[in-house]
Amino acid sequence: MISFKDVSKHYPNGTTAVDRLDLELPEGGITVLVGTSGCGKTTTLRMVNRMVEPSSGTVSVGGRDVLEADAAELRRGIGYVIQQAGLFPHRTILDNIATVPLLLGWGRRKARARAAELLELVGLPGDSGKRYPHQLSGGQQQRVGVARALAADPPVLLMDEPFGAVDPVVRTQLQNELLRLQSELRKTVVFVTHDIDEAVRLGDRIAIFRTGGHLVQCAPPAELLAS
Ligand code: ADP
Ligand code: ADP
Repeated sequence: MISFKDVSKHYPNGTTAVDRLDLELPEGGITVLVGTSGCGKTTTLRMVNRMVEPSSGTVSVGGRDVLEADAAELRRGIGYVIQQAGLFPHRTILDNIATVPLLLGWGRRKARARAAELLELVGLPGDSGKRYPHQLSGGQQQRVGVARALAADPPVLLMDEPFGAVDPVVRTQLQNELLRLQSELRKTVVFVTHDIDEAVRLGDRIAIFRTGGHLVQCAPPAELLAS
């Protein structure tokens, strides 16, 4: 589904963020990219939706080289969630979630109906749709971020430390919610964290990176814990 073949990324200032990465992520399931800060996880993630272009090698999604795809079309099939949900402050929660469907020309009624459905899917009360982002807690805002990323039902979901800024209790709730959602939706999820416990909880596969952008190993958690 997503593949990296001999992929490197060198930033213009000379930093090698990713070094000769070979990685295959089959369809469905959660792959967690884990490792200390600066080891290339975010860069790897952003090469999937072409926010970052590889310096060499080939990144492909669904068998297609991302550099040959139309970037806008590529991103329609890829939801993206970051640590600070990045909601539009002057739009209601419902309109935030409906952003992509509206861009796709769904029409207001249908986009709002879809947004209301998603609100429920991520476990938010129906009346929160009328609220504005600042009226929600950090954890609730992250749920909205997930709902927004899922609005157009993309097959791939990229998550970059999505629960990194919430307190441990809420974080556990959000992790459980993600596992529940995933058992229903079966997306191909790529999840970045520096927290190994989170990686073990969520990952069907864990890809361990070390400084310099090297992939050390990618395996199911049970195999990693046994070795
Ligand atoms: P991680 O997500 O594991 O923290 P990143 O992919 O963000 O790692 O960064 C990998 C390395 O590349 C780090 O040394 C970081 O400082 C560097 N880096 C990231 N983005 C840029 C950029 N736009 N320009 C230059 N260096 C960058
Ligand atoms: P994170 O919270 O994922 O660690 P960072 O603080 O590393 O994020 O990066 C924030 C932004 O700055 C990103 O867009 C990243 O690409 C960019 N960036 C990170 N490191 C560098 C760097 N050394 N030089 C230039 N840009 C960088």
